[in-house]
Parts: sequence; structure tokens; C-alpha cells
Amino acid sequence: MTSVKKRAPRTKNKEDIARTIELMTEQYGPFSKEPRLPPIDEMVFTILSQHTSDINSSRAYRRLMDRFVTLEEVASGEIEEIEKAIAPGGLAKIKAPRIKEVLNRVLELNGSLDLSFLREMPLNDAKAWLRRLPGIGPKSAGIVLSFSLGMPAMAIDTHIYRVSQRLGLIGPKVSVDKAHDILEEKVEPEEVFNFHISYINHGRQVCRAQRPLCPECVVGGLCPSRKKFMSKADLAVLAAQEENTLAGSSGAPMPHVPQSESP
Ligand code: SF4
Repeated sequence: MTSVKKRAPRTKNKEDIARTIELMTEQYGPFSKEPRLPPIDEMVFTILSQHTSDINSSRAYRRLMDRFVTLEEVASGEIEEIEKAIAPGGLAKIKAPRIKEVLNRVLELNGSLDLSFLREMPLNDAKAWLRRLPGIGPKSAGIVLSFSLGMPAMAIDTHIYRVSQRLGLIGPKVSVDKAHDILEEKVEPEEVFNFHISYINHGRQVCRAQRPLCPECVVGGLCPSRKKFMSKADLAVLAAQEENTLAGSSGAPMPHVPQSESP
């Protein structure tokens, strides 16, 4: 018996991805590139923000800087003192030694905590440099390079990962780490910032983990997962819209316009 090989699902091309970014930016943007923290501060901030809210990590960062004033002081500080300062961010027992270790490793490798030299490096070299640091994975490296240094690096969080999978930008079996490289290839460098912010917004507001709001989705027409999540009633509305579109009718609402609840 001849075995039939299953074809891998098709993932989106660059043009379709650019269109999703455009549509989401129209919906949630425009986004302003506010100046962020210096790269080494951004790195400490990413450690503080692991498994906690933005509010808690901001509070922990402020308390750390109030207590030590400079990150050089943190690097030579007592772990117990760092721990006390960052307590509002949670997991202080794990984060305090990690922050101290990473700062000291940067000092060892670079002679200072100034990481602005990374901006002059090719993107892959800059990523590799950061990835040598303890506990710095692709997401943390991406945050530092993208948000602090304005480089076109990916920083895939849970929202971006989920939306990218549902939209078919990456295959269902692609790991988060691998997704960084794939999406960096597929998103134009000048669009990486809009990609980050619009996909995060979309994941938080519409393409939520549980019960995504597909009938309201601005990129629904480009999404292979849409029908999987829609109720029978919403599917019927969608089918009618598609029929109208095929018939050349201009009266049907776009699929992403919120539908009234069924009686
Ligand atoms: S159609 Fe649904 S699953 Fe697809 S991106 Fe929109 S909200 Fe997410």
C-alpha cells in the first residue's frame, strides 16, 4: 500500500504578513516609538518583568534604582539587598542573583555596562553576543535590541506567538525560539516595531487565548483558524457575507465589524 505523505500546512508569505501588520496598525495604531531605557537597564527590566505584571516590574525597577542609584552599584551589591529592593516584582530570590550575575558577566566581557556598541554590529552577531549572557534567551535579547537600540530584532511573547500561529505565519509545531528566526526573515526590518506592538495589542484585545473574538477580527479574512473558533451563528453570518461578496454585493459588512449578539 502506498503511504500518502501529509503536506505541511502552508505558512503566510511576506506580502500577506505585511497586510496583517497594516490592518492591525490601522486598527490599534499609530504607535509612537517612545524612548526606552538604556540597553543594560532594559535587560535588567526584562528579568524583573518575568512572570509578573508591568506595574509590579516597574515598581521593582524603581525601587532597585532608588536603593542602588547605578547598575554598577547593583553589580557589586549584596544579593540580599537586591532581593529586598525588587521584592514587589515577585520571585526576588531567583531574580536577584540572576541580575547580579548578568551584570557581572557584562562587565567581564565588555569592561563596562554600556551596551550601545551592539547597535553597530550585524543583527545576528548582536543577538549572539547577548545570548552568551546567563538567562538571556531570544526574547530578552530581542527586547534589548529592538526596543532600546531600535534594531529589527524579534521579541516573541505569548500573544505574538499565539496570533502568529493562528494566522499561519508559523507552523503549529514551531517552537517559540525558532519563531524568532522565522519571523525575522518574514517581516520587513522597518515593520518589526509595528509588528510587535500591533500583534501584542491584537492578542490582548481580540485574538485572546480563550474564546478569540473572530467575528470582530480585522485580519479575519486572512486567517486560516477563523472558522475553527466561530460559533454556528457567526459562521452563518460569515457564509452569507462571503456569498454576497461573491455576488458582487457591496452591502454586507466586513467580517471584522462587530456583529450584534444573536437573540
Ligand atoms: S480570526 Fe480569530 S483566530 Fe484568526 S487572528 Fe482573528 S481572532 Fe485570531
